[in-house]
Amino acid sequence: MPGDSLNINTKSEKQNTYDAIIVGSGISGGWAAKELCEKGLKVLLLDRGRNVVHGEYPTATKETWEFPHRLNLTKEEKEQNFVQSRHYSFREDNKHFYINDQQNPYEETKRFDWIRGDIVGGRSLLWARACYRWSNLDFEANLKDGYGVDWPIRYKDIAPWYDYVESFIGISGNRDGIAVVPDGKFQPPFEMNCVEKHFKEQVEKKFSDRKVIMGRTANLTQPVKAGDFAWHVIFVIAVVPTVRISVPIPAPFPLLLQQVI
Ligand SMILES: Cc1cc2nc3c(=O)[nH]c(=O)nc-3n(C[C@H](O)[C@H](O)[C@H](O)COP(=O)(O)OP(=O)(O)OC[C@H]3O[C@@H](n4cnc5c(N)ncnc54)[C@H](O)[C@@H]3O)c2cc1C
Repeated sequence: MPGDSLNINTKSEKQNTYDAIIVGSGISGGWAAKELCEKGLKVLLLDRGRNVVHGEYPTATKETWEFPHRLNLTKEEKEQNFVQSRHYSFREDNKHFYINDQQNPYEETKRFDWIRGDIVGGRSLLWARACYRWSNLDFEANLKDGYGVDWPIRYKDIAPWYDYVESFIGISGNRDGIAVVPDGKFQPPFEMNCVEKHFKEQVEKKFSDRKVIMGRTANLTQPVKAGDFAWHVIFVIAVVPTVRISVPIPAPFPLLLQQVI
């Protein structure tokens, strides 16, 4: 390694000793690495996936009609990618970011859709940016249903962390005051277009218990702090070109939109 003596690496132990080793550079691992590095720790971040070099987005600026199958998969592709192709987003334009099912099989006693990126950054290169807070409805749901193990936390425990992350990445959304999708530290929401406004008006007029709200997404509607910008590029902006299909276009989301992924 640089700085070693000719034959013996006397510094190898120091060079290869880390305060923290993180396996996986997706949103979880990536964020952990950011936090630990910012606190001054020496961090090793490992990922098994291919490194997508910035700019290497072969399909990012193509229109649907430029793809041989208009974004659809062939029968062979579906057969070969028998798990990943179950997901709506596995299509002609971004299939190259997903794991190879043939090389990474697993046993399914019961159907289990394990949708995996195989790239440095993981699914942060694929996600659709929808950012909804869980509420106690979610944290208590399985307990009420008598299913699985009770969550050891409730909304109040995690709320400050939602604040922390939202303030950093920038989430646009409206403060709608709906208990099951708690409000966050939002940037200004996108404005609904006239059709959306009309739709909202009609739904809310007809159903007193239903709300149509602007989607809450990691799309900036005002600048983030200058110091955070570089990280923001890694976490959010760099994702844009790869996510042709992933609705960064704001749209009103029905109130009880479920977090299905
Ligand atoms: C198309 C799509 C749209 C989505 N949209 C949304 C959305 O709008 N809103 C939302 O909240 N969520 C969304 N999600 C889900 C969200 O992207 C994931 O929940 C989140 O990215 C998971 O982060 P993670 O760090 O846990 O895992 P991942 O991002 O999957 O990261 C795991 C990392 O670990 C690496 N890895 C795995 N095994 C090993 C190993 N053995 N050694 C080394 N590295 C390894 C992988 O290569 C990968 O980089 C979406 C997901 C997809 C696929």
